[in-house]
Amino acid sequence: MTLDDLARRVSAARAATEARGETFYPGASRVHLASFPPKERWDDWVELDSRAWPRRVERRYLLVPTTCFNCESACGLLAYVDRESLQIRKFEGNPEHPGSRGRNCAKGPATLNQVTDPDRILYPLKRAGRRGEGRWERVGWDEALDDLAGRIRKAIVERRQGEIMYHVGRPGEDGFTERVLANWGVDGHNTHTNICSAAARAGYELWCGIDRPSPDHANAKVILLVSAHLESGHYFNPHAQRIMEGKQQGAKLIVLDSRLSNTATHADVWAAPIPGSEAAIFLAIANHLVRHRLHDREFVRRWWNWQQYLEAEHPELPPTFASFESVLASLWESYTFDFAAAESGVAAAVLEEIAAAVGGAGTRLATHTWRSAASGNLGGWQVARTLFLLNALLGAVATPGGTYPNAWNKFVPRPIHLPRHPEHWNELTWPQEYPLATYELSFLLPHLLKDGRGKLDVYFTRVYNPVWTNPDGFSWIEALTDERLVGLHAALTPTWNETAYFADYVLPMGHGAERHDIHSYETHDAQWLGFRQPVLRAARERLGEPVRDSRDTNPGEVWEENDFWLELTWRIDPDGSLGIRKFAESVARPGERLSVDEYYRYIFEHSVPGLPERAAAEGLEPLAFMRRYGAFEIAREIGPLHEREVPPAELEDVAEDRHGRVYTRAPKPASPNLVPVGLPDPDGEGRRAAGVRVDGKVLAGFPTPSGRLELWSATLASWGWRELALPAYVRSHVHPQSLGPDRFCLISTFRLPVHIHTRSANAKWLDEIAHSNPLWIHPADAARLGIETGDLVRIETDIGHFVDKAWVTEGIRPGVVACSHHMGRWKLGDQAGQPVRAGQAGQSGQTDQIGQPGQRQLMATVALGHSGSRWTMRRRAGVAPYASSDPDSARIWWTDVGVHQNLTFPVHPDPVSGMHCWHQAVRVRKAGPDDRYGEIAADTARAHEIYREWLATTRPASRHSPDGTRRPHWLIRPLRPSREAYRLPRSGPAAPAPVAGGQADRQE
Ligand code: SF4
Repeated sequence: MTLDDLARRVSAARAATEARGETFYPGASRVHLASFPPKERWDDWVELDSRAWPRRVERRYLLVPTTCFNCESACGLLAYVDRESLQIRKFEGNPEHPGSRGRNCAKGPATLNQVTDPDRILYPLKRAGRRGEGRWERVGWDEALDDLAGRIRKAIVERRQGEIMYHVGRPGEDGFTERVLANWGVDGHNTHTNICSAAARAGYELWCGIDRPSPDHANAKVILLVSAHLESGHYFNPHAQRIMEGKQQGAKLIVLDSRLSNTATHADVWAAPIPGSEAAIFLAIANHLVRHRLHDREFVRRWWNWQQYLEAEHPELPPTFASFESVLASLWESYTFDFAAAESGVAAAVLEEIAAAVGGAGTRLATHTWRSAASGNLGGWQVARTLFLLNALLGAVATPGGTYPNAWNKFVPRPIHLPRHPEHWNELTWPQEYPLATYELSFLLPHLLKDGRGKLDVYFTRVYNPVWTNPDGFSWIEALTDERLVGLHAALTPTWNETAYFADYVLPMGHGAERHDIHSYETHDAQWLGFRQPVLRAARERLGEPVRDSRDTNPGEVWEENDFWLELTWRIDPDGSLGIRKFAESVARPGERLSVDEYYRYIFEHSVPGLPERAAAEGLEPLAFMRRYGAFEIAREIGPLHEREVPPAELEDVAEDRHGRVYTRAPKPASPNLVPVGLPDPDGEGRRAAGVRVDGKVLAGFPTPSGRLELWSATLASWGWRELALPAYVRSHVHPQSLGPDRFCLISTFRLPVHIHTRSANAKWLDEIAHSNPLWIHPADAARLGIETGDLVRIETDIGHFVDKAWVTEGIRPGVVACSHHMGRWKLGDQAGQPVRAGQAGQSGQTDQIGQPGQRQLMATVALGHSGSRWTMRRRAGVAPYASSDPDSARIWWTDVGVHQNLTFPVHPDPVSGMHCWHQAVRVRKAGPDDRYGEIAADTARAHEIYREWLATTRPASRHSPDGTRRPHWLIRPLRPSREAYRLPRSGPAAPAPVAGGQADRQE
């Protein structure tokens, strides 16, 4: 039905009603239901109160935008703030948001559950007993800040910067806290990336210098996914909309997944390969494209670094494209469909069908992988590298319907203060064994601490729960409870989590409707900026009420990180003598602390092209515009930035290497986000990379050392991995040949689309939908083992076991089992023995929480035990109804919360990407009489041995660095330290000879 049809129906209804002599009610909104509330009426929007039904009671709302914080997609939300009570009544989508366009997944509206969660942490808490004992007392923010600031200042003054670490799970912002650490001169930024996406990032970065893809699904002819991207994953709601648009316009959807995900159910072709064999499939497709000359030869000639490759690997050949094509023809000839079928277990005919579709896509091939196979397997980074090879062969790079480098489809504005580069290198996050790791070796932290490689004086976890989220959680508990290893642990979190139990301070931070952030993500070929804000603060300000900071409007004393970090920075250096205070100082009012308002006002007024003009057109200041609409579209249809011709003004005093990389002394262009970003190394003379010469013109190119797409990676070759310098297939550690006959590959990485890792334990709407994670097992395997759906099964890993229920389903490959990692939350409960003293009721009306810390709607109560290195977890109780400020908590009908499998996984760091290879080799059997649901056992001594086994497969910088540095400088690295810090501390063994044509000849 069209909108006109609807309008006609409404008119007809009005006429009919009035003809009966009755009064027509046009609806509270006066807008038919197919529309979003018009933005002109966001100050006074009227809806009927659903709770008053059947009475017709109108309620008036202020509609205030913010951004969802429940995954990295950063969709727009619109908070409905009741004008009478000034409480948030609901969240819906923000139609003004260019990425999500008014739509959300279930987790967006569930933000309301998080805000009104009766068990949330409302006040800063300090431990009152031993760490982990579970005794807490309420403290003021001032006390916590002064304690933290004093310790951090002392460490900085004593040059122990390496003992300060900030470890983030969900950042939800673009670099704010990273810059805070840099401003302190501390190389202490640690992320969760190496348990998430480091492998895929490595594959993309080695190709194009940018570590994420941005597929243009809506315009694709073929969409090839190695993930459950329609239902979960990065940017999945914005991407899912566009995948469905693509399908509606005839795109073919191909999904590779060993498990029948909801995404796979929507596919035209679903293939369920043996986990880790995906790269073999993609190389077979590449071989097919080349053999049948379906590839875009002109794109390859212009944009691949084939000259470098020939020079390094085929110096006997003339350096011509004809020579390269003769080599290309045989490069992957051993990857036949039969070979790929044998490796993957997918029939050769199906692979041929996929190859034919890919070959027919031309430049409209949208591909994507993120976690999935890349994160599960040894060598998983090659899954991304071989997948992008297909785009690179077809020229489907930055084309309509193709795949863009993500940095071209996002925007990172310049902040008010630019950070400095720390002058030390943190060995606990960037150990020498992993010079090419995409991100920090975060999940190895307990092992590195135990190995005596350093210690932490102040350790922040922020929206991060490594005890539960990471593999080998018992080793985390051991490290966190050893005060010789971790001097002070402050957990910044909106909700209780398993890691916060082992903290010294628990500091309550806001949910998505209670904090400021900006963000911009690659949802499609455009650039936009989203603004998260505390909606009650914004509502009160819109009504003309003064607000000091978000604590005035958040429940209890819940704060926000921006203000917290600015205040902490101010207190670390109160007199400015350390040179730190200036980074938290107001520009408008020198001598005063920078406010959150000024921080964002500066960005919106100075750093976002077009925003001041757009705001002025509506008679608003830029900050007021962002507070009113929550997002701004900077540009559409960015297009192929690598083809942009570099203007003469940007080519001052140029130098050019023999492969056409062009360097300049001209300053960077004013709009860095409109040219390829990245930091390729300078030419040794202090010039910056400006572009690459292609057919006589200097074009912007890609931020790789060569400026081109790097089929052959000189970086890999010169840092000890020459055999993997081309896109290659690495057999997984869980390949059937490694597993043996009685073991399964356990896929442990998949999400439940309605849950958030740590912060949804009391999102009641989500809990009601999903609250268990049974083991998926194929009927053939189940019959062999005598297992039926609902049976208890014991799953044995290399360091322990867990006990779960079985779900027998044909939705999983035979020989493979799967269990979602989104379940199995736990709390220590009575074991701690002391109540939380969380203070009085907060401003939102939450009741005082007297009881054990924890989220009572989806956390089991457990007992931990250990003898030496052997740990056990026994379930004492599931969840049950309870009385609280939310009557629904008395209506909880589920008792199950799933099983925490990650505790039984040893670490598996990939020697190249540093990614934790999640898949496990496991034995599965029917549970014995003594096995109990949810029971877990693990041996941390054995876990440490396995860590060392994987460590032994690395090629450390101390032996393989071609230039005496710890890491190639051009590779992306958060918080890049100074050049001097990159140098290895002492001269190691003689460096191998530089690889011809490699980056070694370009280093300073
Ligand atoms: S996809 Fe869902 S959880 Fe993620 S930001 Fe959007 S609404 Fe929130």
